[in-house]
Amino acid sequence: MTLELRIDRERCRGSRCCVRSAPGSFALNEDGRAMLIEPPADSEELLRAAASACPFFAIQATPATPARESAS
Ligand code: SF4
Repeated sequence: MTLELRIDRERCRGSRCCVRSAPGSFALNEDGRAMLIEPPADSEELLRAAASACPFFAIQATPATPARESAS
């Protein structure tokens, strides 16, 4: 994977926009906030779309550093 994804759970309001955009990579946990499914099953394009879809700017999608890529 070439993206590093982070969810700011304090910002998340459970709108499900990320789940609808990339259902193989995002889910809501028991407290109604988003969590990542590991490993993400969606394309990089869908992951970026999911991050952009969040109305609360709770998802960061940044390029993975080479060291992290090789470690995963
Ligand atoms: S789109 Fe944003 S606010 Fe909605 S569930 Fe996903 S992370 Fe949470």
